[in-house]
Amino acid sequence: MKETIFDFIICGGGASGLLLLKALREDSFFDHHSILLIEKEIKNTNDRTWSFWESPKGTFDSLLTKKWSRAGFTDATQKLNFDLNPFHYKMLRSAGLYKSIRHQCEQAKNITFLQATIENTNPIEEMTEVVTSMGNFRSKRVFNSIFDPKPMWNQDKYPVLQQHFVGWFIKTKQAAFDPEKVLFMDFDIPQRNETRFLYILPLDQHNALVEYTLFSEKLLKLKEYEQGITQYLESKGISDYSIIEKEQGNIPMSCYPFDQFNTQSMMYIGTAGGWTKASTGFTFMSTNRNIKKLIPFLKSTKPLNAFKVINRFAFYDLLFLDVLTQYNGLGSKLFSRMFSKNPPVRIFRFLDEKTTFFEEFQIMLSFSIKQKMWFVKALLKRVF
Ligand SMILES: Cc1cc2nc3c(=O)[nH]c(=O)nc-3n(C[C@H](O)[C@H](O)[C@H](O)COP(=O)(O)OP(=O)(O)OC[C@H]3O[C@@H](n4cnc5c(N)ncnc54)[C@H](O)[C@@H]3O)c2cc1C
Repeated sequence: MKETIFDFIICGGGASGLLLLKALREDSFFDHHSILLIEKEIKNTNDRTWSFWESPKGTFDSLLTKKWSRAGFTDATQKLNFDLNPFHYKMLRSAGLYKSIRHQCEQAKNITFLQATIENTNPIEEMTEVVTSMGNFRSKRVFNSIFDPKPMWNQDKYPVLQQHFVGWFIKTKQAAFDPEKVLFMDFDIPQRNETRFLYILPLDQHNALVEYTLFSEKLLKLKEYEQGITQYLESKGISDYSIIEKEQGNIPMSCYPFDQFNTQSMMYIGTAGGWTKASTGFTFMSTNRNIKKLIPFLKSTKPLNAFKVINRFAFYDLLFLDVLTQYNGLGSKLFSRMFSKNPPVRIFRFLDEKTTFFEEFQIMLSFSIKQKMWFVKALLKRVF
């Protein structure tokens, strides 16, 4: 490649790198800015299944595998059913997104894709140099989505949980699922002193993605997640099925301030930038939201480390994680109170960071007295 200096360099062509590329491509302001996207893999597989809620009409609708307007929540004592109006819960498989953004950008003269491994990034004067297996490139604006969890693990100020799971796409012989209803959380399984639940995304009566999921500190052995799925299906009388595909993931849940590593010429984005919603692990839509804020910012000449996404919701997340870490075996009870006392729309708006103080107060009120004391203790510990 002749050119080595670009207006923008995006490191990593996963969700955040591609969503940023898409947003730059769709804004004519950037038509004459040169953009290099560096990704080590050929990204064309379903290595992720993203789920999120949004209004019925959304940007990715043409790529969705499925959407639902109803949802359920279950624990040992209750089965709740919700109408999600005015939201839909949506499932997007990654291959479709990867292909569509690549297709949308491939013809653009100002965009270059490079398949290479990034070895390092170095600040050089007012630029960042990206060292790769295919040469070195520089830019005044580098966006880095390569996640290094080490600093997060090597500290104890911010608790770190993980949303970790194994999911099976299964096909059953008998009709077994309600295709109109997603099951957010089924806590009616042994908790083993952690926060464990099943998450079920039915595609039709015979096909579903069934995930055994934990919000906890330590990963399990693969066979433990798989046993969890098998036992759950058995308990529901589902024994005649085939596994079509498997998926596994672990998503960091932490308020660790990753943005401290941003410099004038390099910004971490996606999971690497701390854009994962710490209390839930949801990243896809929070990344999309942050990119919407980032685009107008990039039209200014401000240094990249002047871009801030922190707000009061980060503090709520911190308290929630403090409590969920300390009372991990009772996490199901926290979620149970939240879902039984609040309409899911309020919870979604809260997670989308769009609630008013009054709504946030209503959510706080929904916890039991004992749980409220946990939050008060966590608050006092953080403040003093
Ligand atoms: C299986 C799974 C399911 C998930 N489901 C959901 C969900 O339902 N909803 C939700 O909101 N979030 C979900 N997440 C969390 C989050 O949305 C995804 O992890 C998302 O892909 C994060 O985007 P990212 O750009 O930060 O990281 P990635 O998508 O992982 O992108 C990073 C990219 O960098 C590349 N890369 C890494 N190292 C190098 C290197 N040295 N050189 C060059 N390239 C490199 C990688 O190949 C990768 O393509 C899920 C995560 C996983 C793993």
